[in-house]
Amino acid sequence: MRRASDDRSPPPILHCDDGSETELPWRWAICGSCDGHGTSSAYLGAFTRRDMEDDPEFFKEYMEGRYDRACDHCVGGRVRVVDRDRCTSEQLAAWDAQVEDDRHIDAIHRPERLMEGGWREEGWRD
Ligand SMILES: [Zn+2]
Repeated sequence: MRRASDDRSPPPILHCDDGSETELPWRWAICGSCDGHGTSSAYLGAFTRRDMEDDPEFFKEYMEGRYDRACDHCVGGRVRVVDRDRCTSEQLAAWDAQVEDDRHIDAIHRPERLMEGGWREEGWRD
């Protein structure tokens, strides 16, 4: 049985053309989203200087980390990454192609996800 936290950084799974899945060798690495802190306020998105000036109270709390929550991308500040030294060259080639595919798919869905983060509209003052 997997713990829920494991799902945030699943082991790298290679999806083969024949429908099978292979777990590649992996190692732990520091999470790039939260710099290994395990918490992050990145889910709030990026802010402009104007945003800060409009709502200094919010930003004071923001800088104090009051809005930090568990990082979505890691387990306690660590992520599983492919251990390239232990993969075969075939595995690496297939993995790199898969990552590239995922990136294309992500680029398509990202604007939709940003639209869904509608919290900014609610707090928006102009
Ligand atoms: Zn993280």
